[in-house]
Amino acid sequence: MEEKNFICTACPMGCKLIVRMEGDEVVKILGQRCRKGETYGRQEAIAPQRMVASTVRVPNGFHPLLPVYTKGSIPKRKIGEVLEKIRAIEVTAPIKAEDVIIANVIGTGVDVIASRDMPAKD
Ligand code: SF4
Repeated sequence: MEEKNFICTACPMGCKLIVRMEGDEVVKILGQRCRKGETYGRQEAIAPQRMVASTVRVPNGFHPLLPVYTKGSIPKRKIGEVLEKIRAIEVTAPIKAEDVIIANVIGTGVDVIASRDMPAKD
């Protein structure tokens, strides 16, 4: 039996989780104080997900880079591919906070959105 250790980030309590696995199956989760922790531990052990934050180039922007983030979590193993896609594009100002910058990035079903307004430079 294999044990994986995680800190639950589903709330600020930060419970220490121990997930016992047999092969690819979760057989026991210890250390959680609620159901959310159980869900988190299972997800982390089987198919971890993360939000991604980065920047895209805005050649005519008031600042040269626009901060962006994924509107939801994506599979951790796809982070590199998502960052490559984000790095490969340029956008045109003006942009509003929460504008979709890349819809359904690499087929994850998650959009990359602007985290702030970006006016054009004068
Ligand atoms: S297990 Fe529950 S109480 Fe503990 S950190 Fe996760 S969400 Fe919070």
